[in-house]
Amino acid sequence: MIRARIGVSGIIQGVGFRPLIYRLATTRDLTGYVANTAAGVTIEIDGSEQDLERFVLSINNEKPPLASIDQLHVEKSEIDPAVKHKSFEIHASIASGNRIGPITPDTDVCDNCLTEFFDPEDRRYLYPFINCTDCGPRYTLIEITPYDRPLTSMKHFPMCEQCRAEYIDPLDRRFHAQATCCPI
Ligand SMILES: [Zn+2]
Ligand SMILES: [Zn+2]
Repeated sequence: MIRARIGVSGIIQGVGFRPLIYRLATTRDLTGYVANTAAGVTIEIDGSEQDLERFVLSINNEKPPLASIDQLHVEKSEIDPAVKHKSFEIHASIASGNRIGPITPDTDVCDNCLTEFFDPEDRRYLYPFINCTDCGPRYTLIEITPYDRPLTSMKHFPMCEQCRAEYIDPLDRRFHAQATCCPI
């Protein structure tokens, strides 16, 4: 059993990078965690040598459209299967030192959001602040890195029940979308 500690830096906060890592790990039955740090993202993951190699390759191949990876550093160590992580989780951010990571830019509205915007049945119909993991404001909202809702101007707006349900659903486009909001 191998444990890999993977440090990633670049524009990877607020672009659906942690949700991607969550999906890549859980679809392969790998366990561990992913967390934002001030400088990027840290992943700890347990599995066989071969599983971990494929996992790292898939990070590069499947990275989200708005993400750009500058550096990816892998450190492997042998572990006792008894201490293996039991599940894969998205952890709260790890505060580390004073480094400030690259700040993700704002991007214009994506096609999925536009479709919702013009759908009278959608709760975000004509809602000007519509956004998702693939689009919307980042730079404008960020007060300090890591990019997490409590460290942005969104901290003043608690999520409604529906927004929260989307935020915690790994299959939803707004899974861990920090700027998610709606008229409610
Ligand atoms: Zn969008
Ligand atoms: Zn809402």
